[in-house]
Amino acid sequence: QGRLDGKRILITAAGQGIGRATALACAAEGAQVIATDLRAELLDGLDGMRTELLDVTDADAIARLAADLGDLDGIFNCAGVVHGGTVLDIDDADWAFAFDLNVTAMMRMIRAFLPGMLSRAQQSGSVSIVNMASMASSLKGFPNRTTYGASKAAVIGLTKGVAADFVKQGVRCNALCPGTVDTPSLRGRIASAADPVQAEKDFIARQPMGRLATVEDIAPMVVYLLSDDSRFVTGQAMLVDGGVTI
Ligand code: NAD
Repeated sequence: QGRLDGKRILITAAGQGIGRATALACAAEGAQVIATDLRAELLDGLDGMRTELLDVTDADAIARLAADLGDLDGIFNCAGVVHGGTVLDIDDADWAFAFDLNVTAMMRMIRAFLPGMLSRAQQSGSVSIVNMASMASSLKGFPNRTTYGASKAAVIGLTKGVAADFVKQGVRCNALCPGTVDTPSLRGRIASAADPVQAEKDFIARQPMGRLATVEDIAPMVVYLLSDDSRFVTGQAMLVDGGVTI
């Protein structure tokens, strides 16, 4: 028996990294997974799942998908982007894009899918939304992560607002706050550094456990938050950071 048996769960950015690992973990626990991503080719190989193209910055596409899919038991809003630099380096367009993708798109996903989730919650008693934040947010500051940290802090605020408004209607909403995770996008940030070897050492050095997280270190927390095991947990920023914020 799986911990997500019978639950319909949609995941954004499910093509690679944390989203993909979570899609696989949810399916292994019995969920009917709807795996979505901006890039169709990345959805190949997700056997047994329904796959859908979805650019979460496209408001019309979100509305169409919500109308098409109907009621869900869970959503993992995973899509996000990382910008580097201090406040002095911020380009207005990058700032706007970060908030559009990391925050506004998440709000639109919740706004579009929540009515269906509320009717599902009336039958099952419980539905769950998990929003991707980060340890780099309101929880901790990091050098060269001002745009990113501000946007991920907003994710925590969005999460708490949704949790507070719908707690009496069977909706739980939590934020996931990982440490540094070995994913394709992290590899890209390392490769584009002036000294990639040093950059990788620096990322590892800030993790007290002496290693980067794997995507398999992160996915179980999402499974937990989407499952009824976490039925008394809502409005929380769940850190999975290998001890960075000890
Ligand atoms: P990644 O960045 O390697 O992959 C991102 C995925 O998002 C890709 O499949 C890409 O196609 C998809 N994507 C990009 N733009 C999209 C859009 N507009 N609509 C839909 N999909 C889109 O994956 P990752 O490193 O696992 O990051 C996933 C999330 O985890 C992000 O929100 C990121 O901020 C967050 N996060 C990552 C780390 C880390 O160290 N890797 C740490 C904390 C939080």
